[in-house]
Amino acid sequence: MEQADVIVVGAGLAGLSCGFELSSRGRQVLLLEAGPVVGGRTSSWDEDGMRVESGLHRVLGFYEAFPDLLRRAGIDVNQIVYWEDEVEIRLPDGRGNGVFGAAPLFRPFETLGGALGNFELLSLLDRFTLAGFLTAGLLEYLTNPAALDRVNVRDKARAYGVTENAIHNVLIPLTSGLYFLPPERYSAYAFFGTLGPYLPRIYTLRVGAFLGGMTDVMAAPVAAAIVRNGGRVRTRARVTRLLTEGGRVTGVEVSGERIAADHVVLAASIAPAQQLIRQALGDHPWFQPMLRLPTMPAVTIQMELDRPSMPIDRTTFGPGTVLASFAEQSRTTFRQCPGRLSVILTPPEPFLGMDPAQILEITCRDAERLGVHVRDRVTRYRVIKLPADFYSLSPGNDGLRPQQATPVEGLTLAGDYTRQQYLATMEGAVVSGRLAARAVEEARRRPLYGNSGQWPFTGAQQA
Ligand SMILES: Cc1cc2nc3c(=O)[nH]c(=O)nc-3n(C[C@H](O)[C@H](O)[C@H](O)COP(=O)(O)OP(=O)(O)OC[C@H]3O[C@@H](n4cnc5c(N)ncnc54)[C@H](O)[C@@H]3O)c2cc1C
Repeated sequence: MEQADVIVVGAGLAGLSCGFELSSRGRQVLLLEAGPVVGGRTSSWDEDGMRVESGLHRVLGFYEAFPDLLRRAGIDVNQIVYWEDEVEIRLPDGRGNGVFGAAPLFRPFETLGGALGNFELLSLLDRFTLAGFLTAGLLEYLTNPAALDRVNVRDKARAYGVTENAIHNVLIPLTSGLYFLPPERYSAYAFFGTLGPYLPRIYTLRVGAFLGGMTDVMAAPVAAAIVRNGGRVRTRARVTRLLTEGGRVTGVEVSGERIAADHVVLAASIAPAQQLIRQALGDHPWFQPMLRLPTMPAVTIQMELDRPSMPIDRTTFGPGTVLASFAEQSRTTFRQCPGRLSVILTPPEPFLGMDPAQILEITCRDAERLGVHVRDRVTRYRVIKLPADFYSLSPGNDGLRPQQATPVEGLTLAGDYTRQQYLATMEGAVVSGRLAARAVEEARRRPLYGNSGQWPFTGAQQA
């Protein structure tokens, strides 16, 4: 039977982060990924001859763990990210638009100007009510987060007297753009949680697009760093079962092949993680909240065009349309294309059952309402559906998220759905991987793992 010190199941950012931490400390890591490429929700691949990604991603300047992982794996974030540093909100049917600078340090005048200008979108009264809502919400995020997770963004905004105009022109773009949900389905905790943890370093905000497919520029190089550290990475290796013995996890099964390990880190996305746990440890009381954690989908459409759809590559929000967020990418992520438009759709559920041609038609219709005319210029397109990869950011779910360390010997969890304060983001996934590595380290210090209890450190870095 093949053997490893630690098996990491899933090579998304959480699994890569955990695998990197453990392999840096001299552990024999085996990373098993079900898909054909590494990266999970931050992957890019060839879909029937067209280069696609799991969906439009933005790197935020106040992330810390994410760029730190890349740096230690030998990747310079500034080489793989183009800092766009602004976002646009477009209202449909010519009702207005606004550009907001999003880089207080790097574009101070545009950032200030965006906040004070844009009167087409926001009146003085709108701003005044929004300011009160944001201040009160952030205070509640810091003092009573559990209560905040019981209400949705729309109800919370109404309770603070936010005008309908501000809800439509700012809160809908933010909730739909960030997690594809309308404000009435979006937890107020999750809303303020996209800013709250970064408050001490809010001035470092920037918004960046990847310069290339995410597997190519980020995930594969991190996997290569794990291999340099002595680890092994296998793709097309779907774990079908956790092996248990006497209440302890002892390894995994991959297509009938059994692989033994001292420790298994389950870093699969939420739905497959729930399935593997249900099968092996479904009766264990500790896992019951996690097994009840609802999931939510994401659907994107990616189009190649005969020329760019917009003059600038930047994140744009389209409130009141199915285009939650979208961007031209032919000068940034997909420079090989004359034009390329990537769109995240909202709400995602109705699109899960639709065929791609229908999705293209609906997207082109709404894009036109936003002044983006692509209907006759699409040379090819692909629809990417992720039916259950996210934990649901609706109210009442945050308390169901599990810690990384579990009470079952030999088993640790990682993934953006596990408990860490950065929600379902690249930063959150990397932090969860670090916390999982730390939990493995602590478990190995316990006497069960041998007489010395020593962790074989080979590097100085701490998770
Ligand atoms: C459309 C979209 C847009 C996004 N935009 C942003 C953004 O702008 N900024 C940001 O910070 N974040 C963004 N995110 C969120 C971010 O991508 C995720 O939070 C993060 O990548 C999650 O990483 P993870 O490792 O926890 O999970 P995943 O990336 O889902 O990784 C889990 C891995 O486990 C594998 N797996 C599953 N089952 C098995 C099995 N049985 N055996 C082996 N392997 C298995 C999967 O194939 C996958 O590779 C976006 C996500 C999407 C989908």
